Amino acid sequence: MKLDRPNHPEPEDAAARRTTDVLVCYPIDALPEVNLAEAQARQAGAELVQSVKVPARQAACVDLSAGHFARILSVEGPQVGDLNIWNTHNIAERFYSGKTRALHGTHVSTGDSLWSNLPYMRPLAHITQDTLDWYGYDADGGSVHDVIGTRCDPYTGRLLSGADYHHCCHSNLTRAMADHFGLSLAEAETHVHDVMNVFMLTGFTQDTHQYFMKASPVRPGDFIELEAQTDITLGLSACPGGDCGDEHSSDTASCYPLVIEIYKPKTLEGFVEAPLNSYSGSHGI
Ligand SMILES: [Zn+2]
Repeated sequence: MKLDRPNHPEPEDAAARRTTDVLVCYPIDALPEVNLAEAQARQAGAELVQSVKVPARQAACVDLSAGHFARILSVEGPQVGDLNIWNTHNIAERFYSGKTRALHGTHVSTGDSLWSNLPYMRPLAHITQDTLDWYGYDADGGSVHDVIGTRCDPYTGRLLSGADYHHCCHSNLTRAMADHFGLSLAEAETHVHDVMNVFMLTGFTQDTHQYFMKASPVRPGDFIELEAQTDITLGLSACPGGDCGDEHSSDTASCYPLVIEIYKPKTLEGFVEAPLNSYSGSHGI
């Protein structure tokens, strides 16, 4: 946070320095086009092949083949989900929330891609439907599905409350990932990464620019849909914060399950798997 009373005086030209042009860091016009119409046509004929329930305050992992769709559904009550994504065949490639944010903004919706980390950097999934797209941004600057937050975790909880809580999304994802990939807890934990906060309503406060949360507007029946751009594994935690309208990292909030539905299209005609990033990797050498 910035100081209420800065230690250093403004220079003479402070006003001029503050009023330079705003430039979008990463104009996205040159990114590969997401053809939503074609994706939604493939989804329209798709068959529901698997349904996975993520219990409240737990996580689950599910594989999603390239070209298949996953819907993350609110089913019993307003509930936020913390989403991790890995390349099923190479878990070193995983969702990169920071670059996704830099490219698409603080909150994502239909037509945005969920990118993987360097040196892979390609879309792991496209968002093809979002029933909360009507929300936009509210008067507090808040919106849903953020790629700002990290995930609730027991280390931060320990620092802030002095207590140990074992059902934070970080721990839920660690247990689920260890089970799914056959890893030790210690190894799995190193692969858990910053999440996409599905359904979570967040923003930055106007005065201190701190990360805030409000009760999610999600209701049973709402969903967000992803089309896998390569073979991926989704890890989803039903956050102990419930709708995140009160507190997280405890058993205080009302929590509900989430459901992941997997859909297999009748045809993958027109679908092209996302290639790995074509940068040479030479780094100038
Ligand atoms: Zn959480």
